[in-house]
Amino acid sequence: MVDCVFCRIVAGEIPAAKLIETETVVSFLDIAPVNPGHCLVVPKRHAATLLDLNDEELTDCVLAARRLARAVMEVTGSPGLNLLQNNDRCAGQVVPHVHFHVIPRSPDDGFNFGWRQRRYDEGELEGMRNAISALLT
Ligand code: 5GP
Ligand code: ZN
Repeated sequence: MVDCVFCRIVAGEIPAAKLIETETVVSFLDIAPVNPGHCLVVPKRHAATLLDLNDEELTDCVLAARRLARAVMEVTGSPGLNLLQNNDRCAGQVVPHVHFHVIPRSPDDGFNFGWRQRRYDEGELEGMRNAISALLT
């Protein structure tokens, strides 16, 4: 993917502060961190979303994220961490090459998901459970 910024980082065509590189995965510091130490893990192969990853890529991304998390939390002294992964523009994905955010957190750091949660209506939860379960074969 010639016009993909993360493919270009993987290929070394544009600079990035790389942290981990394996056969399948690259990680690097996010250029615009939520908090210092915020980094990204991407598969080397171009894939748009989580659903396009094969098992090996997914495993390697998550293992790299955990490895990074330990180091980033120690370096920043952060007691907490978010592992975030956005899929599609409607879910906040800006770069269409699948990536995992590793974000160190601290109390009162001001990062806010802005979640608006609701309750299910009468019978809605059961219907949803049945519909999803039917596809989990
Ligand atoms: P998304 O919203 O797609 O989940 O997150 C994309 C992330 O990629 C953002 O946090 C953004 O700061 C980061 N990003 C975008 N372009 C570059 C880049 O050229 N270099 C690096 N290191 N990070 C980037
Ligand atoms: Zn790409």
